[in-house]
Amino acid sequence: MGMGYTLVCGKCGYSRNLFMGCGMMYCQVLQEKTREAKEGIHGPKLKALFEKYPNGCIDAMNNIYYCNECRTVECEPSLDFYKPVNPDEEISDELFGPDMDKYELAEEYIHFCPKCGRPMKQVIRLTESEPVDCPECGGSMETGHRLIWD
Ligand SMILES: [Zn+2]
Ligand SMILES: [Zn+2]
Repeated sequence: MGMGYTLVCGKCGYSRNLFMGCGMMYCQVLQEKTREAKEGIHGPKLKALFEKYPNGCIDAMNNIYYCNECRTVECEPSLDFYKPVNPDEEISDELFGPDMDKYELAEEYIHFCPKCGRPMKQVIRLTESEPVDCPECGGSMETGHRLIWD
């Protein structure tokens, strides 16, 4: 089950739905993203990490990323790379994805803004202390009702 927010601009009314976490399809998403990462679709760094740690895994849960430069908001799978704590241990996939207790973070994936190419920062929780500007008019966007999805 995942969580989402609706962001609404107080000035022009522009709204955007953002979904975080993972849904019931997580295993499929994870398999697809893992395959893409191994093929180098998500950059040479991830590909090299999978060559170095063949039984490593990635975090495919959606996070929200925000560009300070051009105010682009994107919702993308994290793609952080995790390596097994014990490299010799065979880790079997659970129904809802791998047991993350057996992995440790090896490399954070840097998300670049699709519009201006600068690194985006991850917005962990959209609260009043972390305002997000409207991509349309620059007004401040507020988090509306929470959405639950599956
Ligand atoms: Zn606006
Ligand atoms: Zn940007």
